[in-house]
Amino acid sequence: MSARLLLIATPIGNPEDITLRALRALREVDELYAEDTRVTADLLRHHGIARATRSCHDHNEDARADEIVAHLEAGRTVGVVSDAGTPLISDPGFRVVARVRGAGFGVDVLPGACAAVAALIGSGLPTDQFAFGGFLPASGPALRARLAELAGFDGTLVFYESPRRLGATLDVFAAVWPDRQVVVARNLTKDHEQWISGTAVAARAALAAETRGEVVLLVGRGAPEAVDPDTRILSLLAEGMDAKQVRDVVAAQTGLPRREIYARILTLRG
Ligand code: SAM
Repeated sequence: MSARLLLIATPIGNPEDITLRALRALREVDELYAEDTRVTADLLRHHGIARATRSCHDHNEDARADEIVAHLEAGRTVGVVSDAGTPLISDPGFRVVARVRGAGFGVDVLPGACAAVAALIGSGLPTDQFAFGGFLPASGPALRARLAELAGFDGTLVFYESPRRLGATLDVFAAVWPDRQVVVARNLTKDHEQWISGTAVAARAALAAETRGEVVLLVGRGAPEAVDPDTRILSLLAEGMDAKQVRDVVAAQTGLPRREIYARILTLRG
């Protein structure tokens, strides 16, 4: 095979969720770069593949990109894998691909498991349009602002979420999108795979006190009937929220600009 970069998808849990082409590439590429060499060693061992790997992660990706281009210039094939699923999807590798393409070398994708797509197709939510939002911000105000940006999207929203933050995130969803359907897809393809579906309040109630494992969080599109912003502002103010909280919640529910909502709040309150 001529010098090329191969982006190789690996399983997200069940080690058998890997393609024949990926297994062959893992065996045959001249150089294999892994996000965490110990994690990839377990996968290789499971499939009876004995070979060396080198690390390529967020903290050394630029240096590794130079190294990978040098391998390609020497006529070698290079594979890249992440710890699980499709490399570059909320995982390192984008800078490597940009550098490799910039240097004029070919890139082959070896598709396979991806937690976002697995969760989407099993969720029961519409798949005709979806947006992948990666990991949501951890802080409350940044999270509300992000949801405000996404509020107008007419399709299913898909996020990766830490199990530690899941409860707090569902609380914010319950405040801003009380009527939307939420799906929590946990530990896909593993033991203890779990699907929770309902409103954010119901999903929150169904969670075990301590949630472990890995989670994809999905949200269905908003109800077609528009939320009346003035009615919502008045009811949230009556609940005791301050003006900025009301602005963020109403922005997330209506998709209207935050500045415009803030002006309405001041008028209605005044
Ligand atoms: N590149 C991976 C992919 O293709 O899905 C995603 C890597 S990202 C760093 C890891 C996140 O993916 C986890 O925090 C979780 O949100 C999600 N994830 C990965 N495996 C999962 C699984 N088996 N079940 C549910 N979510 C999973």
